[in-house]
Amino acid sequence: MARLNLRLKENAPGPLYVDETCIDCDTCRQMAPEVYGETRGLSYVMRQPESADEKLRALQALVACPTASIGGAKGAEVEHALGTFPQRIAGPVYDCGLRSESSYGATSYLVVRPQGNVLVDSPRAANPLLRRIETLGGVRLNFLTHRDDVADHVKLHARFGCDRILHRADVSGGTRDVEVKLEGDEAVALGSGLLAIPVPGHTRGSCALLVDDEYLFTGDHLWAEDDGSLGMSRGVCWYSWEEQVRSLEKLLAYRFRWILPGHGRRVRAGSADEMRDRVKQLLRRVAR
Ligand code: SF4
Repeated sequence: MARLNLRLKENAPGPLYVDETCIDCDTCRQMAPEVYGETRGLSYVMRQPESADEKLRALQALVACPTASIGGAKGAEVEHALGTFPQRIAGPVYDCGLRSESSYGATSYLVVRPQGNVLVDSPRAANPLLRRIETLGGVRLNFLTHRDDVADHVKLHARFGCDRILHRADVSGGTRDVEVKLEGDEAVALGSGLLAIPVPGHTRGSCALLVDDEYLFTGDHLWAEDDGSLGMSRGVCWYSWEEQVRSLEKLLAYRFRWILPGHGRRVRAGSADEMRDRVKQLLRRVAR
């Protein structure tokens, strides 16, 4: 629960507020950019929501917030916002909404497929969300892009009986029991239309997941900036920047229109060729 006595002084007057426990994960600013802004490395309420749509998105951010740092609403309207997750993004892809603090508020995604659903990384395992995931068909595979974003994988495995997939190089004590450990740097087919692509760099065992030659889930390897250009950063590269650039180059061999990251903005290009051009532009930028 957010605490009124920690309410940031920058918040606009009105019921909704952010308190000092914000970890600046950017979730609320992505979900309701008209309402939440950034100040002193924290989020705050720039202005109170006005329209019904703004209010819903502001409350979706409230329930998504990994640290419960947003306050000023409760009851039925919060329950309603909670019930909107997983929220469809496009085609079979949903944003699970509820972020976990242990993955620093990373986005997790559900891909609904006739062959069995795929959960990418881990949402906060709150019961209302898990019940909704059940109504969408549960989870067959839980693809973990890298060691930082595994969050509630144990609870998810217990609830859905899903096989968890993680590259062996990122396995640690908390993930030693995952069912599938990927090896090496070659892409691995996980089923029809599912390809795991090792992209070492951010961590040694980072992997992207390509679905149906359309959607690329990138973990913390690659994301979009506010202007739609692609981005990656030395500042959050824990293993090897040179490897990360090589991994980016590797993506030129694949076709996809969407990039869906753990952190940062997601983006859709008009065509796979356009997305490839954006990857090339980023390669030129990071080579300077
Ligand atoms: S979602 Fe929560 S932790 Fe993340 S930036 Fe907003 S207030 Fe801060």
